[in-house]
Amino acid sequence: MGQLIDGKALAAKMREQMTAQVAELTAKGVTPGLAVVLVGEDPASRVYVSMKEKACAATGIFSDEHKLPAETTQDELLALIDKLNNDERIDGILVQLPLPDHIDEDCILNAISPLKDVDGFHPFNVGCLATGNPTFRSCTPYGVMKMLESIDCDLNGKEVVVVGRSNIVGKPVALMCLAENATVTICHSRTTDLPGHVGRADVVIAAVGRPEMIKGEWIKPGAVVIDVGINRVGDKKLVGDVEFEAAEKRASYITPVPGGVGPMTITMLLFNTVHSAMQRASR
Ligand code: NAP
Repeated sequence: MGQLIDGKALAAKMREQMTAQVAELTAKGVTPGLAVVLVGEDPASRVYVSMKEKACAATGIFSDEHKLPAETTQDELLALIDKLNNDERIDGILVQLPLPDHIDEDCILNAISPLKDVDGFHPFNVGCLATGNPTFRSCTPYGVMKMLESIDCDLNGKEVVVVGRSNIVGKPVALMCLAENATVTICHSRTTDLPGHVGRADVVIAAVGRPEMIKGEWIKPGAVVIDVGINRVGDKKLVGDVEFEAAEKRASYITPVPGGVGPMTITMLLFNTVHSAMQRASR
């Protein structure tokens, strides 16, 4: 039976450490600041933004909220980003996605200063990761890496199979595993023989967005299984991309859904913000 990797507990431990770091920085006159920008009324985005604000408050991070109406123009949003890029109190800028259709998301993300890009989505920071000189790492994949570190999973020479190739999870987590000297395979919707690829993995990272599509019987006995997927089935129940009950019987370690990767994402956003503030303090 696989052991659970408890994302909630790991996130709580990291947030406790960060609270102490924030207090130290604040004592030196450098309170970490995160600007959170929300455009429009998307209900899920409002929930995410309010979770981020609460997490900042609990850690002592200054949260600078900008809730803008859906009809905000691209130029108005660019002007706000420019202001935040030049605001010395702000160490990180987060623009909640998705943006309304009339705004070009890439244009907005590219306008954020790479030095304040705590989401790690700016092409400069993605390029730094790809060339082996990581700066800000995007939060969900970075959280996955912290979870692997928490169980002392040495990736050197291991077969890692990532299922999913999105820019926010699949690709960056694959690059992070490559940087740890794993042999990485990225699978996607055109992959043939997904069970065969998953079956030889020492570490499986699932980021697909399809409830329980990765079957427990595909998992190599003793493999580590990280399930990034969050899928709502029926009215309330959340399940991952991995068939948990069957996979748990074969895995050495496995993340639950909920309570696995989920709580790590906001934690890594705080982590990146605190580290950005540390750089400000050392300038
Ligand atoms: P996404 O952008 O929709 O990407 C999904 C990926 O899965 C794509 O690369 C797609 O391949 C691949 N895929 C789809 N069907 C497949 C199949 N049958 N076989 C193999 N691969 C297949 O999703 P995402 O944003 O990466 O998110 C993935 C999941 O993680 C979602 O459930 C999301 O809710 C969750 N998530 C969780 C967190 C968190 O905080 N825990 C954060 C972000 C995302 P193609 O590229 O070929 O289309």
